[in-house]
Amino acid sequence: EDSSDLISSARMEVEEWAKNQTKEITRLKDLERYRKEFVGNVSHELKTPIFNIQGYILTLLEGGIDDPKVNKLYLKRTEKSIDRMISIVEDLESITKLESGELKLKYESFDLVRLVDDVIEMEQMMASERKIQLQFNRPEKPVKVLADKKRIMEVMTNLVVNGIKYGKRKGFVKISFYDLKDNLMVEVADNGLGIDSKHLARIFERFYRADKSRSREQGGTGLGLSIVKHIIEAHEQTINVKSAVDEGTTFTFTLEKAK
Ligand code: ADP
Repeated sequence: EDSSDLISSARMEVEEWAKNQTKEITRLKDLERYRKEFVGNVSHELKTPIFNIQGYILTLLEGGIDDPKVNKLYLKRTEKSIDRMISIVEDLESITKLESGELKLKYESFDLVRLVDDVIEMEQMMASERKIQLQFNRPEKPVKVLADKKRIMEVMTNLVVNGIKYGKRKGFVKISFYDLKDNLMVEVADNGLGIDSKHLARIFERFYRADKSRSREQGGTGLGLSIVKHIIEAHEQTINVKSAVDEGTTFTFTLEKAK
């Protein structure tokens, strides 16, 4: 009687152990797949500018250097490719820190109206070049929030720049605030190209781009929105997107109001 009890409890223990082992193996396999995919994506993204630079230099070496016009053009293109590599590497640093939880938020109380003013001022030139109006339903009074100012600046800049990059000529990007009871809702809306519903659910994933060629041409890395989402979630807030092809896209996220 006693020995059979012992055996059955030992068996249960072994079964439990085996179950945990299986779980752990699945977790490690997932991690390994994720790591491989990440490295694959990164090298793929970096290859394009590297090969381009190689091509430009070859053209110069093969005689282009003697023609001042060609010379300048190809050096400019080289510089552009290097810029692209820098933004990929910077985005990668951000995302690695965010995903490993290494990033500590520096909470402070600040005026979101002024932050939006600054973002608009900085992106005005890019918007004007594409004939896109930056609009701000600007509250009269300061709107104080409690958040990491630098990171929220990154979020706003990313959303506004996306609105410009994927906008239509003579379109707009409009920023509005809505006072919810416990927090503040920020809306960044454009009347641009929009995102097909089959892509919409995935745009916050690393390297995901609804329209690869357009994104590259605009200097996109496909990392911006995943950084944005990480930042908002690190604040324990939420971000949402609504979009219709050819009509436009609206992002909304929440922030904690400062008391
Ligand atoms: P990217 O560097 O390619 O812009 P993001 O992570 O910022 O990467 O965005 C992911 C993809 O989502 C973009 O490639 C684009 O296809 C789509 N997207 C993002 N914002 C908008 C927008 N405002 N309008 C239309 N499409 C957008």
